[in-house]
Amino acid sequence: MGYMEANVCEKFCRFYKPEQNEPEKCGSYEFLRKNLTKREIVRAADAAPAKPDFSSDDTISEMVCAECAFRVDGCDYRDGVNSTPCGGYAIVSHLLRNSKASP
Ligand code: SF4
Repeated sequence: MGYMEANVCEKFCRFYKPEQNEPEKCGSYEFLRKNLTKREIVRAADAAPAKPDFSSDDTISEMVCAECAFRVDGCDYRDGVNSTPCGGYAIVSHLLRNSKASP
């Protein structure tokens, strides 16, 4: 298992199925992988609460969900169905909340 799966998927995502090893990843996985170093991801995953913070939802929708491969078939959370978002959402929302808090 790679560091992304161990720190993002297994730790935060209730949709994660390790035996499937899906080639397509969700938008939050790709966003974190492209924009953060491994060290930053591990640190963020250690610090992020399991429960996502929804105060940056509009920003996450534009920055992360708009690029998500799973949106084609529909993401229950983004489509307004009563569902939690993907696991990486919790980490991205944690990072955005912290970036707003710092001067
Ligand atoms: S919340 Fe849904 S649309 Fe947004 S990145 Fe996660 S899986 Fe994709």
